[in-house]
Amino acid sequence: MIDLEKEGIYKRGKRKGQERSALGISDEVSFSKYGNTEDIWLSRSAFDDFKKCKRCFYLIRKRGFIPPGIPAFTINSTTDKLLKKEFDECRKKQKSHQILIDKKLEHVIPYQNNETAVNVYGDPIIPSKSKIPYEKMDAWRTNAHGLQARFKKTNFVLFGSVDDIWLNTKSNSLILVDYKSQANEKSVSQETYWEGDFKIGYQRQLDFYFYLLTHQDLKEKVSDDAYLLVVNARGLEDKFENKLLFEPTLIHTKVKFNYLEKEIEEMIKVFNSDDVPESNKLCKNCAYARQRSVIDKLKNE
Ligand code: SF4
Repeated sequence: MIDLEKEGIYKRGKRKGQERSALGISDEVSFSKYGNTEDIWLSRSAFDDFKKCKRCFYLIRKRGFIPPGIPAFTINSTTDKLLKKEFDECRKKQKSHQILIDKKLEHVIPYQNNETAVNVYGDPIIPSKSKIPYEKMDAWRTNAHGLQARFKKTNFVLFGSVDDIWLNTKSNSLILVDYKSQANEKSVSQETYWEGDFKIGYQRQLDFYFYLLTHQDLKEKVSDDAYLLVVNARGLEDKFENKLLFEPTLIHTKVKFNYLEKEIEEMIKVFNSDDVPESNKLCKNCAYARQRSVIDKLKNE
């Protein structure tokens, strides 16, 4: 991936007034939130980085290295946004959604919680624009806040924003949901969906949210049932006609959480260490960087 820094002059920060250039490292690294400098906040995606490669997790999250970016998946975020609007309509009416009704899950409705959201320090979470405190479901679905939980008695706080939470009205239990978009001619099916290496990351995502949700002060239980709502653009239409049709499929899973605490402890150990950990031998970026460094070295000799 060739990712170029924007041209121009820095307008803020230490390098204000200087011409822009890619340095590969931040001027300063911050791990804190809400003005508390004692705690280190690690997100769900930091945990995902840790699982993929301890070295890049360490260099990016602790030392402030800046990896090349990838273009934003704007179609995926658009389907997420529209699904959210659709489920919010049902949330307002406290009714089930047709996708759930079709699966005989009419007793499952989008979860509503109008209580004021508070951060791990017990303070209301207030958006900078409106100044009106978030309600819980809104804060939990916002990237900057999300579900938050201190990890045991450490100075590490874990957080992550969920796509949705549903309520099973029969068992009064909460169900975690993540929206996924994809394009594949074949229909999505429960039987084959979990095949493929990268899907383990989707499961890990739900497991991590489960950990966070079970650490909230809630009246409801948290179910170990979780769903991915997968919308698939099969592209089988004759023409484009300015629209893309998606087929929705609910994929069920059971959250697995027994392994999680041990792995989070390991992540904290790596973060706290002064040693740079091993890289992942399967990573193409590292292999490319190694090969390129040979050329760089020859050029500089
Ligand atoms: S293997 Fe190298 S480039 Fe790949 S994620 Fe790890 S440190 Fe980063």
